[in-house]
Amino acid sequence: MKYLFTPPAVPSVPIRGSDEHFPIRRIFCVGRNYEAHARELGNEVDRETPFYFTKSSAHYVSSGATVAYPPGTANYHHEMELVVAIGKAGFQIPEGKALAHVFGYACGLDMTRRDLQKQLRDKQLPWDLAKDFENAAVVSTLAPASDIGHPGKAKIELKVNGDIRQSSNIGLMIHPVPAIIAHLSRFYHLQPGDLIFTGTPEGVGPVIAGDRIEGMIEGVGEIALNIGLAKSP
Ligand code: MN
Repeated sequence: MKYLFTPPAVPSVPIRGSDEHFPIRRIFCVGRNYEAHARELGNEVDRETPFYFTKSSAHYVSSGATVAYPPGTANYHHEMELVVAIGKAGFQIPEGKALAHVFGYACGLDMTRRDLQKQLRDKQLPWDLAKDFENAAVVSTLAPASDIGHPGKAKIELKVNGDIRQSSNIGLMIHPVPAIIAHLSRFYHLQPGDLIFTGTPEGVGPVIAGDRIEGMIEGVGEIALNIGLAKSP
């Protein structure tokens, strides 16, 4: 068998303290997982059931990159999030065994075209144009759980040009990591390589050309993204 063209390389995340990379399979994202963030966007909080959207692994970009201001938006937002990296396959995983499926954790930026998200949400349409676009899934170096454990409570923070915009604690998630894995694995056969963005705390806001985003989660790591001066062609 011959391919029509050379397939693109599998996107992969560097692993801290290792020369190995974590190949990305799928990217799941949890919506509205912090009460104060759901409220700031004018949404009801559903404590019973998490919901999800996805991003293509082709839209991954590594921490420290410089990306162009994306086309089709005038309100390009940062969302600082804890990212879970699945290392062991599982289906219908009980909450009590969920963490055994986690390889490690990273910082993530769920970059969002907020103006499109609001338009799509108001029309009850899918969010793809708002969430799943080029360079919209920023992920830091992965920290293996074998090194850092499973962070339940930790400070999460994001700065733009040195000013704090988001500051919260991952312990405030409505659906904590084991609950997300248990719920998501009722609908998907989770596989090694799957990443889960676990939702953002309050303080989301716009960035413009020339801005630098820096985020951190205590005990997990740091992430950065530069918004280039050139607009995307
Ligand atoms: Mn998000």
